This record gives sequence, structure tokens and C-alpha cells, in this order.
Amino acid sequence: MTRIADLLAAGRTCSFEFFPPKTDDAARALEKTIAELEVLHPSFVSVTYGAGGSTRERTRDIVIHIERDTGITAMAHLTCVGHTADQLTALLDEYRDAGISNILALAGDPPADAPDELDTGDFTHALELVELIRAHDGFSIGVAAHPEGHPRSPDLDSDRRHLAAKLEAADFAITQFFFEPGPYLSMVEDLAALGCTKPVLPGIMPVTNAGQVARFAQLAGAEFPPHLAARFAEVADDADAVRALGVELATQLCERLLAEGVPGLHFYTLNRSTATREIAANLGLDG
Ligand SMILES: Cc1cc2nc3c(=O)[nH]c(=O)nc-3n(C[C@H](O)[C@H](O)[C@H](O)COP(=O)(O)OP(=O)(O)OC[C@H]3O[C@@H](n4cnc5c(N)ncnc54)[C@H](O)[C@@H]3O)c2cc1C
Repeated sequence: MTRIADLLAAGRTCSFEFFPPKTDDAARALEKTIAELEVLHPSFVSVTYGAGGSTRERTRDIVIHIERDTGITAMAHLTCVGHTADQLTALLDEYRDAGISNILALAGDPPADAPDELDTGDFTHALELVELIRAHDGFSIGVAAHPEGHPRSPDLDSDRRHLAAKLEAADFAITQFFFEPGPYLSMVEDLAALGCTKPVLPGIMPVTNAGQVARFAQLAGAEFPPHLAARFAEVADDADAVRALGVELATQLCERLLAEGVPGLHFYTLNRSTATREIAANLGLDG
């Protein structure tokens, strides 16, 4: 059982994020992606969880499958809003019994068209889930960080204070994606000023489809910088050129972050391997 806190203490990590597939075809595609990324020797991979428990079994099954059958350390995302403490405790027991020792503790979002749907349940914020998991011995706990502030935060200062308190109770954070180093570096500085120096892994989203990423960015409260959007607009009619530009820009972002001494890189793969493999090769992480 490898704890991500121990991996981070030992050196820089490289990790990949997946979502649980919905169909047999998508499951086969994910198996292929995992096999293609396994050759990069990831420090760990993580699997998202549908807010409110919509992927409860699928997330659990794929996390346990990866950890048992591939030898890659797997982390389960877990959201608390809309759940009872008993429901979460039962799932944590299943993970512990299956040898899973890493959890990303999240609040989760209600569906945009039903904002009150997750109001039932025992939890409001991710920190409460971190505390519940801590009461279970042995888990290494990650939390989410939002370099440009959480979209529902009234202001950046309060978001940073809540993040510092949550991260102090956890072991490490992974960020929402961002496209230029500034917001990440300021966030790490702000956390240090608040006395929190736990590792914060930057989340990297290679742009393979500019329209899709601009939409994701809007939802996540991340700015898709206009000067980058303009570069994608210039090649918008050529899918290969869009992808190549996305890989080039993500490589540059990673190079800058590595030069700043980040504790690792966490790639949002969207269950595909090509762009991530190309960036890893550009960075010399594929050897
Ligand atoms: C790396 C990463 C992975 C993710 N994976 C998933 C996933 O698998 N499934 C999923 O559904 N979602 C996922 N999300 C999205 C996440 O669930 C949403 O962004 C959610 O809205 C906030 O989650 P959080 O854990 O940051 O919440 P919190 O830490 O609870 O913060 C949410 C908001 O509440 C504020 N806040 C925190 N504590 C307090 C307090 N005590 N009083 C007042 N305000 C407070 C914060 O400033 C922030 O504005 C992920 C996000 C990231 C960055």
C-alpha cells in the first residue's frame, strides 16, 4: 500500500487522472489508455467520482482494479455533499479492506439545473470529509485547490484561508487546471504566507479541442487567456494543428512549473493518452 504523502516526501511525482467509463467500449478504451500510460511509470493515477454518488460503484471498482491488477497506485476521488457520514464511512471501509490508501476529499457540485439537489446529507465543505477520513487510520488525503479562486467564493482572500485550513488538515492538494503559471505561483505564495507549505500539485489540462476547453474553463473558474484563445483561433480549422499547439503550450507551462520546483505534475487525461504522452516525451519524463 503506497501512500501518496510518502511518494511526495521522496521526490517529484507524475500522475494521471481518469473518469469512470460509462459503457463497455469506453471501459476498453480506458484499459488501452492505462496500458499506454503505464510505460511512463506514473507515481499514481486517480479516478473521479460523480457528485452525489452517481458513479459510486464504478469509481470504486476501477480504482480497486487499477491498484490490484496493474500495480499502479490508485487514488479514489470522493465527494461529500449530499452524502451521510454513514454512507461515506461504508465506502471508506470498502477501500481500506481492498488495500486502497489514497483519497482525494472533495465537496462536489450539485447539478447546474438542480442546485438544491445535494442539500440533504451531513456535509457542506470538503474539510469535514477530510476530518471523517482522518478518523479512519492509514489514508493519505488530498484536497482540491483553485488557483484563480473557487467560482462560488465571494473573494479570493476567504478562499485562500479556507484552502489553507483544509490543506493543513490533509496531506497535499491538486489544483484545478490553469493555463499560465501566475495564478498557481501566487496561490502557493499566499498559502505560505498563511503558514501552509504542504505540497500542491499543479493540474495540467492539455488543450486538444479549444472550444471544449474554453467551456470547461468557464465552469471551473479558470481563465482561458485571450492571447492563447487567439492562437487557437488561427488554427481552428485544422484539428491536428490545434492538438499540436495544445501540446506545445502545455509543455511550456510544465517546463516553467518544473523550473519553479513544483512537487509534481498531475495530468487531466480525459481518458486519452496521446497528448499526455507527447508532453511527457517533450519533458524527458518518458525515459
Ligand atoms: C483536482 C480536482 C479534482 C476534482 N474531482 C472531482 C470529482 O471527482 N468529482 C466531483 O464531483 N467534483 C470534483 N472536483 C470539483 C469540486 O468538487 C468542486 O470544485 C466543488 O465545487 C468544490 O470542491 P472543494 O473540494 O474544493 O470544496 P470546498 O473545499 O468545500 O470549497 C468549496 C467552496 O466553499 C468555500 N469554503 C470552504 N470552507 C468553508 C467554510 N468553512 N465556510 C465558508 N466557505 C467555505 C471555499 O472557499 C470554496 O469557495 C474536483 C476539483 C479539483 C480541483
